[in-house]
Amino acid sequence: MIMRVFDGHNDVLLKLRKAGGRPALKLFHQGRDGHIDLLRAVAGGFAGGFFAIFVPSPMDLATMKAEMAQPEYDLALPDPIPHEQALPVVMEMVALLMQLEAEGALRICRSVAEIRAAMAEGEIAAVMHIEGAEAIDPAFHALDVLYAAGLRSLGPVWSRSTVFGHGVPFKYPSTGDIGPGLTRDGKRLVARCDEIGIVIDLSHLNEAGFWDVAGISSKPLIATHSNAHALCPQARNLTDAQLDAVGASGGMVGLNFATGFLRPDGQMVPQAPVELMLDHLDHMIERMGEDHVGLGSDFDGAVVPEGIKDASGLPVLIEAMRGRGYSEEKITKLAHENWLRVLGVIWGG
Ligand code: ZN
Repeated sequence: MIMRVFDGHNDVLLKLRKAGGRPALKLFHQGRDGHIDLLRAVAGGFAGGFFAIFVPSPMDLATMKAEMAQPEYDLALPDPIPHEQALPVVMEMVALLMQLEAEGALRICRSVAEIRAAMAEGEIAAVMHIEGAEAIDPAFHALDVLYAAGLRSLGPVWSRSTVFGHGVPFKYPSTGDIGPGLTRDGKRLVARCDEIGIVIDLSHLNEAGFWDVAGISSKPLIATHSNAHALCPQARNLTDAQLDAVGASGGMVGLNFATGFLRPDGQMVPQAPVELMLDHLDHMIERMGEDHVGLGSDFDGAVVPEGIKDASGLPVLIEAMRGRGYSEEKITKLAHENWLRVLGVIWGG
C-alpha cells in the first residue's frame, strides 16, 4: 500500500485564488498545472497537511524566484501589509478552503481524531494555517473568529514584518540572525495561541523571534517547512542550535522541498538530487531524533526537485528513504505519525 503523507506546508490556496478564486476550484478536482490537486494527491499518497492562507506582497514571485536562482542573493523584506488590507484576503482564502470542503475535495480538521478519520476514509485532511498574522488584530478578535472557523496553526510573520515580529529575508549565504525579536504584542500572541491550542510556526521568523517563542511557549516548538542551515546556509534554514531546541521541546521540523533551501549553494533551480533531501533528513534526525522530523513540502509555493515534480512524486522520496536503509517504522513516523503525535500535544487531542 502506498505510504500516506501528512505534510507541513502547501500554498495551493494561493494558486487557486490567483487562478480566479471560486470558479478555479474545479481545477483542484480535475487536475491543474501545479503541485497539488486530487489526481496528484491520490497518485502520490498525499493524505493532507497544513494549507497556508497567505496574503501576497505586491511583488512578482517569478522575479523573486529568478533572483534566488543566482549564486548569491539578498532580497529586501517586502513592506508590511496593513491589517485592513490583509483581512479581506484572508476571508477570501478561508472561504475558498470552506468551498473545497463543501465540494467534497477535502475536510478541514480541527483535531488529530478528525485528521485520522479523514485519512482512514481516504479524504484529504486540511489544517487551516495562516502564514503571516497581518489579519490578526492585537485585541485578538480575528484570532477568536478564525479559530472558530477552524484555524489551528499560525506563523506570526512571513518573510516581512508584522505588528508581532520580523521575518527572515530570502538571503544566501546568511544566518537568520537579522533584526529584533517579537514585539510585546507578538509575545502576547504566542501566549494566547498556547492557551487556546494553535500551533506557532517558526519557519519564517528571524532568529531573535525564534528564541523569543522558545522562551515563552510551553508547547513543542514547530517549524513547518525549514531545513538544516549546516547543509544549506540560507537565512530561512535552522542552525544546529535551533534544531536542538526544537528537539528538546518535543517539537517538529518539516523538510522543505524548496531547492533553494536544500542545495548547498542556495540556488532555487529544479536541479536537486532527491539524495539531497535525504541528507537534510539525516542531519535533522541526527540532531533531534527520528521522532521530531517530518515533511513540509512547500508544494505550490516553491521550486521543488525535478525528481519529485509534484505531489504525485512523493513515492520517489519514500523509496529514497528505503534506499538509505530507513525502516518502515521510521518512514511512517516521517511521513505522518510524528506530525499527528505532536499536533495532539499542542491541540490537546
Ligand atoms: Zn513559507
